[in-house]
Amino acid sequence: MVHLPEDSLGIYVHVPYCIKKCRYCDFVSFEKAPQDEYFDGIVEDIRTAANKIGNRSKYYVDTLFFGGGTPSLANAAQLGIVLDALRKNFEMRDPEMTVEVNPETVTAEKAADLKALGFNRISMGVQSLDDEVLKAMGRVHDAEKAKLAFRILREAGFDNINLDLIFGAPAQDLRIWQETLAEVLKMRPEHISFYSLQLEEGTPLYADYTAGKVDLSSWEENRAMYHAAVEALNAAGYHHYEISNAALPGFECRHNLKYWNMQPYLGFGLSAHSFINGCRGEVDYSAADVSDPAVCQECGPDDLSERPVRGIFGLQPESGSDLKGDFIFTKLRLTDGFELSDYSGMFGSDFRSDFAAVLPELLKDSMLELTGDVLRFTQKGLDNTNPVMGRLIEALEKPGL
Ligand code: SF4
Repeated sequence: MVHLPEDSLGIYVHVPYCIKKCRYCDFVSFEKAPQDEYFDGIVEDIRTAANKIGNRSKYYVDTLFFGGGTPSLANAAQLGIVLDALRKNFEMRDPEMTVEVNPETVTAEKAADLKALGFNRISMGVQSLDDEVLKAMGRVHDAEKAKLAFRILREAGFDNINLDLIFGAPAQDLRIWQETLAEVLKMRPEHISFYSLQLEEGTPLYADYTAGKVDLSSWEENRAMYHAAVEALNAAGYHHYEISNAALPGFECRHNLKYWNMQPYLGFGLSAHSFINGCRGEVDYSAADVSDPAVCQECGPDDLSERPVRGIFGLQPESGSDLKGDFIFTKLRLTDGFELSDYSGMFGSDFRSDFAAVLPELLKDSMLELTGDVLRFTQKGLDNTNPVMGRLIEALEKPGL
């Protein structure tokens, strides 16, 4: 029987509006002003979810994360009604409250609003401190604006700030990346996320790349940038606790740790996922009652921006093997790895047996290391996370491999 930890709950709220779409972005976000109706719809979904979950006392919320999109584009009233609904419908216990901001939206007034709403953690998409790189990615801000926004947030009293960075971006080489890293480390944010640029089909950057108009770094250059980041972060006293995340001790992101530890969370808004009681899903717009006049029947499946925001929860129980796959994709992301006994405790089966077809080879190839009961990526494995995880998942899908 699958046993999942489920005493505390994380809540994610998706705010799908941006000033301008970045050239590499395939997140669900639209270039339009945040709509009141969207936030009203989320409030309804919060009530529905709280009713469906039933016994409130079973869960308490200890992390909230407003992501996007650009949540800081929403006004205080729009964010406030969602927070009020969450506070009314769920028990809160000293929650970590993160809001994502775009530097271009940060003013002293905005920072004061976010503080007054109760947010105690900021995640700011800086991506680079090189103007050419920012321009090539289609970001709306420049480096000076990002630094100014950081100072404004500090002056407003935010003492837990994450900065998001991207490497492997167009117009960026190792030297430019190292300069950005050095400047960011001087700013001393409590948390730094550093992701490799993902080239997503359907984005303007993808079109330019396939047309040969844009150069991107080679795999070797990309890995050199990753290693440079890990080295610089370690030297500066940050704890590299997840493949792409590092924090000053004690500032690891509690909300994201829930994802990586398979703890329950609820997601509200377009494309937001939930995972609770072994069920996974998102607000299921396709299953919404089409006789409801609030539902626009004209919209095609791709036109999410015009869809109603109110839907029903379409959470489906996951099969045991899907959950095992989730376990691999989440727990292995943590640089400390996981204890094999966690796996057997959760699934009632032995990790070594379930992955007998591939585990010895991955250990022999030094992709993974097993120390006592703890399995984790090696340095070499960290450069090959996708193929390694792919092999483990394949072993689950084809046990006789
Ligand atoms: S700000 Fe973020 S969500 Fe908005 S378009 Fe840019 S990358 Fe996408």
